[in-house]
Amino acid sequence: MMRRCRYADCEMVTKDAIRKLEGIVGAANVLSSEEDRKVYSYDGTSTWVHQPDVVVFPTETAHVEAVLALANEAKIAVTPRGGGTNLSGGSVPIRGGISLVMTRMNKILEISPGNLSARVQAGVVLMDLQKALAAKGLFFPPDPQSFLGATIGGIISENAGGPVCLKYGVTKQYILGIRAVLPTGKAIQFGGITLKNVVGYDLVSLLTGSEGTLAVITEAVLRLMPMPPARKTIIATFDDLPKAGETVSAILDAGTVPAKIELLDNWVIRNINRITGMGLSEGAAAMLMFECDGTDEVVAHDAEKIIGVCRRMGAAGVIVAKDAAEAQAYWKARGAGFAAVFSAAPTVLAEDVTVPRTRMAEFIRRVTDICKAADLEVTVIGHAGDGNLHPSVMTDQNNPGHFARAKRAVDEIIAAAVEFGGVLSGEHGIGLEKQKFMRRTQDPTFIDLMRQIKRIFDPNGILNPGKIWED
Ligand SMILES: Cc1cc2nc3c(=O)[nH]c(=O)nc-3n(C[C@H](O)[C@H](O)[C@H](O)COP(=O)(O)OP(=O)(O)OC[C@H]3O[C@@H](n4cnc5c(N)ncnc54)[C@H](O)[C@@H]3O)c2cc1C
Repeated sequence: MMRRCRYADCEMVTKDAIRKLEGIVGAANVLSSEEDRKVYSYDGTSTWVHQPDVVVFPTETAHVEAVLALANEAKIAVTPRGGGTNLSGGSVPIRGGISLVMTRMNKILEISPGNLSARVQAGVVLMDLQKALAAKGLFFPPDPQSFLGATIGGIISENAGGPVCLKYGVTKQYILGIRAVLPTGKAIQFGGITLKNVVGYDLVSLLTGSEGTLAVITEAVLRLMPMPPARKTIIATFDDLPKAGETVSAILDAGTVPAKIELLDNWVIRNINRITGMGLSEGAAAMLMFECDGTDEVVAHDAEKIIGVCRRMGAAGVIVAKDAAEAQAYWKARGAGFAAVFSAAPTVLAEDVTVPRTRMAEFIRRVTDICKAADLEVTVIGHAGDGNLHPSVMTDQNNPGHFARAKRAVDEIIAAAVEFGGVLSGEHGIGLEKQKFMRRTQDPTFIDLMRQIKRIFDPNGILNPGKIWED
C-alpha cells in the first residue's frame, strides 16, 4: 500500500520500494537515513530546500531504466541530480521521492581526436574531462565557472555557458548525441557522433536545457575543439560602470571577438580582494577582463584592437598580463567572484538576465537606480561579452521587510531586462527560482506547448515534477 506525499500527484517511497531499489542498484548505492537525505535536499540556491525520501546512485544505464520503470509504475517522483551546483533549484526534490544522483556514472568512455569528439557518462565532472582532453591537445568549450563540481549531465540539462561562449557558443553547440532514459524506463539514443545530422526533429537540442524534466541523460557524445596555441589576458579599469558596459559593444563593433569579456564592479573587486588577497585595483568603478586566443598573430592583432578601443573609450588603466602565470592569477580571482558574492550576505538574490550587448550600459544604470531607490546593496558581475549579467541583491530572508523589498527590486530588474529586449535567464535555467517570471514574461501558448511536450515524454509526470511551470 502506497502512502501519499503532501502533493496529490506523487507517492512517498515505502520500505518495500526501497528494498526494490536496493535490488536494482545494490544496497551500497541507496541512502535513506535522515542525515544522508539532508545532504541531497538543496543545491546552489540559498532559498530552496526539500528532502528526498531516498537517494539512489545508478552506475549503469540499465539501473536508470529499472529505477524509472519502478517509479513510473508506482508514481514516485524522481529528481535527477549531477553535482547539485545549479542556481535555480533544479535538482531540489521539491516533491520528495527519489533523488537520482548520477555522479557514480563518471567514466570517460572514449576520446576520438580524429572525430574531434568524446563519449562520456553523464556524471563526469567537467574539470576531470578538461584535464583528460588537455593531455591530447583538445578542449570542450562550454566553461561554467562551477567546473570543479558540475557534471556533463547537469551542464547539458541546463545548457550551461561560461566566459568563452562569446566566441565559442554554449553547450547546445557541442552536443552531438545523447543516450537518455525516458521516464517510462526506456533507454533511447538521440543523435550520434556526426557533426551533420538532420534526421527528423532535433531532439538532442530539445533535451539540452530541459532541466531534467524530459529524460535522464546517461551518456553523451561531445564535440571538441583543438586547444588554441596562444592566449593573452588584458585587464582594463574604468571610473564609471556603465562606461565599461559601453566598451564591450565598442570592441565587438571594432570587428574582433575575444574568447572572453568579463565584467566586475567595484563591490566585486573589493570582495575578491577580501577573500583572495589578489590586490585588484580598488579605486576602479569597474573592471573588464579579456582573453584572446588563437595563433600568435591572431592574438597579437586582437589584443592591439582591444587595448586601442579601451583607451579610446576612456579606460583609466590597461594592463596586459606579462605571462601565463599572471593571467591565471587574474582568472582565478575572477573565478572567486561568485564565492565573494554569495558569502557577503545571509541571502543573496543572484539574477541571471541577458540583455542585448548594445543596451548593457543602460541596463546597468537601471539596476543601480532600482536598488538605490529601494535602499538595497547590489553588485553586478557577469559574462559581459554576451550580455549575460548577474545583478545580485544582498538581503536576509529572516528579515521579512528587507527580503520583501529585495524581491520587489528583483522583479523590477527582470522586468527591465525583458523591456530591453533580453531574457530572464541566460544560463541558470528556470527550475523553481524563476517560475513566477515565466508566467509574467512568456506567451501562454509557448508555455502550453512545453507542457504538452512534457506530457508526451512523461505521461505520469514523475520526472522532476514541480519545475519550470507554476502548478
Ligand atoms: C560558483 C558557481 C558558478 C557557476 N557558474 C556558472 C556559469 O558560469 N555558467 C552556467 O551556465 N552555470 C553556472 N553555474 C550553475 C551550475 O553550475 C550549472 O547549471 C551546471 O550546469 C549544473 O551542473 P550540475 O552537475 O551541478 O547539475 P545539478 O545542479 O545537479 O542539476 C542541474 C539540473 O540538471 C538536471 N540534471 C542533472 N543531471 C542530469 C542528468 N544526468 N539527466 C537529466 N537531468 C539532469 C537536474 O535535475 C537539474 O534540473 C554556477 C554555479 C555555481 C555554484
